[in-house]
Amino acid sequence: MNLSKGIALLMLCLGSLATLAQKRQPQPAAAPPAQPIKVTVDATQAPQKILHAQLQIPVAAGDVKLVLPKWIPGEHGPTGPIADLTGLKFFANGQRLAWRRNLDEMYEFHVTVPQGVTTLEATLDLVMPAPPEGFSSGASATTQLAMLSWNQVVLYTPGRHSDDIPVVASLKLPAGWRYGTALQVAGESGGQINFKQVPLTTLVDSPVLAGAHFRRIPLTPEGPIQHYIDQVADGDAALEMPQQTIDQYKRLIAETGALYGARHYREYHFLLTLSDHTAHFGLEHHESSDDRVPERTIVDDDARWLAAGLLPHEMTHSWNGKYRRPTGLATRDYQVPMQGDLLWVYEGLTQYLGDILAPRAGLWTKQQFLDEAAETAAALDHTPGRSWRPLQDTADAAQILYGAQPEFANWRRGVDYYPEGFLLWLEADTLIRQQTKGQKSINDFCLIFHGGGSTLPQVKTYTFDEVVSTLNQVTPYDWKKFLRDRLDTYGPGAPLGGITNGGWKLVYDDKASEFTSAMEKVRNVVDARFSIGLELDDKGGVHDVIVDSPAWKAGIAPGTTLVAVNGRKFTADLLRDALKAGKGNGPNLELLVVNGDYFKSFTLNYHDGEKYAHLVRDETKQDILSDIIKPIAK
Ligand SMILES: [Zn+2]
Repeated sequence: MNLSKGIALLMLCLGSLATLAQKRQPQPAAAPPAQPIKVTVDATQAPQKILHAQLQIPVAAGDVKLVLPKWIPGEHGPTGPIADLTGLKFFANGQRLAWRRNLDEMYEFHVTVPQGVTTLEATLDLVMPAPPEGFSSGASATTQLAMLSWNQVVLYTPGRHSDDIPVVASLKLPAGWRYGTALQVAGESGGQINFKQVPLTTLVDSPVLAGAHFRRIPLTPEGPIQHYIDQVADGDAALEMPQQTIDQYKRLIAETGALYGARHYREYHFLLTLSDHTAHFGLEHHESSDDRVPERTIVDDDARWLAAGLLPHEMTHSWNGKYRRPTGLATRDYQVPMQGDLLWVYEGLTQYLGDILAPRAGLWTKQQFLDEAAETAAALDHTPGRSWRPLQDTADAAQILYGAQPEFANWRRGVDYYPEGFLLWLEADTLIRQQTKGQKSINDFCLIFHGGGSTLPQVKTYTFDEVVSTLNQVTPYDWKKFLRDRLDTYGPGAPLGGITNGGWKLVYDDKASEFTSAMEKVRNVVDARFSIGLELDDKGGVHDVIVDSPAWKAGIAPGTTLVAVNGRKFTADLLRDALKAGKGNGPNLELLVVNGDYFKSFTLNYHDGEKYAHLVRDETKQDILSDIIKPIAK
């Protein structure tokens, strides 16, 4: 997954078949026969924010348990939208059947099926939220488009592995809407799309993006494997991706081929939603990704490059997360709790690889990569929560941290295995390059770990020990100690070894980088984190106050509003001017803040001016960072 959060743009699943077979539970004797579930979704009222589904579920007579998928792959948590499941009715032989929810498990319903009945019919509605926040169960439909995540409209009888539950799905769309999906189509008739039978695993892994404004961009028409960007927007103008950007995404496909040495999908679809009225995030799938960004993201120059890490990140997950998956995240069905302890590989390595693929493909310039890396390092260097919560716990606690509020993020810590994973894997890459005098790199790790010959989608699970042994295959080193030191120890400072090994230094000056300037403009924020410790929006809303910063010591709380600077009504420029004027022997900073119903003035004895993060060359060392981001595709 890859999420857009707060001030920084951070980037929101099976072993070989033999491995799978070994870990499957034996089927209970009373398991219903492996006839397909039939699900028909009517999305013609999606603009009214409701989906209707009809299901035919093979069952045996007696007490039948039906569940809505709870633990959603890629979201690493129990995020199935159970509260939005409405209109639920069951029928057998035309007779309505009563149901009751399990008091200990809100995702589970019980129905008594009469003798002789082999098919249970169900109808349900999914009501779709409007606020543009959250992940796949957040806002997913506008008047012009909709994203259908099948897990939100399908009930199944648990007991078998989701690979062994066949489903035949159909979909009705509003008139004139077009669609993109990795699902294969059997045929279309009477306004209904009929998909080929697939396992429940594949259905849940293959959402459908549809809309009135649709553009498909083929990236590899020459084959042998097809890649598409399927774009849907709230208006046609937003679909005009510049040719140069299309060419960069074509290079991304070539660069992933060179990095991983194999592909594990039949074809690949970027399902790109461009809307200000849906949630904004990325969610990986094996043969597609659900990528949702604001409407003008690909037509606005700053917004486009700021978001350019998203698609490389989500596509990387096809190898790192889908094909290779930690054992604790490769659950047999959607009701089994997931364990996130290796998310620093699943998401952290993906963050690193996505961020080096972007410049390799030309989606970022070298300077943009350096600015992004500086931002990541500086933000972690200003995360005092590192003093109490080790990186390992950010992964262990993933299922609660994704939903945490922005206030006190620096003290609580969030899903830091994304940005800190970037630094950890950057350091590993520089160490491999130093140890092997440039002969080996993380690219060799990827060839072993993610390659191994192209296959159709399948899952190969891994453990911590296999990560260590694969690193040792690339080059012998005490990788176990290296990793555990970075996972289990406490700050305060961020781990900057990758940057320093790479021949660069993290510094601060009073000139905002291209990254910071673009972020302030596109995201309507003011970045005063590294100076007085405030993360603000451009209306003065205080999203967070860095604990132990000048603003914190003065007494300012997160969730308040800065209304005046030195006696004058707040604007972003006014605050910047006041920071400049206070530098050296200038005056103290007077900030008037409203906290609930009360106004209070705070005095900051701060005289260091504006502070923004950059990477600068350390000329005493070899420039490994620049080597890392050079294209590798022939
Ligand atoms: Zn991710």
